Amino acid sequence: MVEKVSAIFFILMRLVRFSGQMYCTREDYWKHFAFIFEELTSEKRNQLHCVVFTFEKMTDTTPEFRKIIHIDMDAFYASVEQKDNPELKGKPIAVGGSRQRGVVAAASYEARAFGVHSALASSIAARRCPHLIFVKPRFDRYKEISSQIMEIFHHYTDLVEPLSLDEAYLDVTYNKKELKSAIKIAMLIRQEIKDKVGLTASAGISFNKFLAKTASDLDKPDGLSVILPEQAIPFMEQLAIDKFHGIGKVTAKKMNEQGIFTGADLMQLERSELIRRYGKAGKHYYNIVTANDEREVKPDRIRKSIGAENTFSKDLFEQAEVEEALLQIHETLMKRIISTGRKGRTITLKIKYHDFTVKTRSKSLDHFTSSATLIWQLVLELLHQPEYLEKEVRLLGIALSQLDNVDKMKGLEGYQLTLDF
Ligand SMILES: [Mg+2]
Repeated sequence: MVEKVSAIFFILMRLVRFSGQMYCTREDYWKHFAFIFEELTSEKRNQLHCVVFTFEKMTDTTPEFRKIIHIDMDAFYASVEQKDNPELKGKPIAVGGSRQRGVVAAASYEARAFGVHSALASSIAARRCPHLIFVKPRFDRYKEISSQIMEIFHHYTDLVEPLSLDEAYLDVTYNKKELKSAIKIAMLIRQEIKDKVGLTASAGISFNKFLAKTASDLDKPDGLSVILPEQAIPFMEQLAIDKFHGIGKVTAKKMNEQGIFTGADLMQLERSELIRRYGKAGKHYYNIVTANDEREVKPDRIRKSIGAENTFSKDLFEQAEVEEALLQIHETLMKRIISTGRKGRTITLKIKYHDFTVKTRSKSLDHFTSSATLIWQLVLELLHQPEYLEKEVRLLGIALSQLDNVDKMKGLEGYQLTLDF
């Protein structure tokens, strides 16, 4: 079926290109390809609809087809340390933690070659890479450099959505330099970052957020990748499930067990089946795999909490399996906390039982924290107080809220204000 959809897609493309004729409405496509559609189920027809819709946008003369760039700094914290201290250049370094305790917040590429990565326990990191150099994080410095980078983005567009200190989406469909080519803009931005900040960034360019973000990962470090509209479906087909941004390790493993290894496998599933299996996330998977991710680049996203959660394929009850599941969620949460550089005062444990009732348990501290050990300790306390779970659970989540005031979004708003004048 997938072959058929992409075959139709290419037939459509060729027809438009070689006949020089533009089919203007969806009905035109329908009329011309009715013979193929007749044998399709309504679900597959829907799937095809998405492809055609994407195709329409591509051929539209008004640029309804968006140009999205995702910029991601290479090993950001570690690169800042290497830049500020030339003695560290070319050496395996870990920012955060020490040889004995703590977690790695970021690793240089030299350290990554040894299997050292962020959120890894530093004792394990030290074992994997015996000559690893531990450097104390300097979040104020990272924030300072981050705002320099964000400022560069704003030379091109105000539609900038930071995801963390070192990563942002830019919508450059209409941009301040009036450039048509998003590739050109990405090249200029990377050069400007190199010249003014002295660091390298990788860029991904495409027509939606998901593809742009995936593209920026393809050629790291110091790379630039483009996924053109006509490449989107074939690209999604061959993409390994664990490379899908938004599909975590646990979900990827679950999917592998169900025989889903690539986007093509995912495309075989009906939309309703994806929703039945993965809930709300299933809808999102459907949209991204059909290259129909319409999420806008939102410049004013203000973060109130940082969270991670997981829905399980089978309900959990045993304490050991619940704790194991929470440990995985805790790991994801810590990665997110580290990448935002934020601290918080309240930890919340969310529990959804097999009967879909939801309970939350929270605990607040008198100080801000981003300590992995302390957060884990609080999660365990919440799990057992007031009492251990009374019935099987289908979802668990952990969130850190009441975040500290170092609000980079507020800084950005201030910046945009000054730009208006
Ligand atoms: Mg990065």
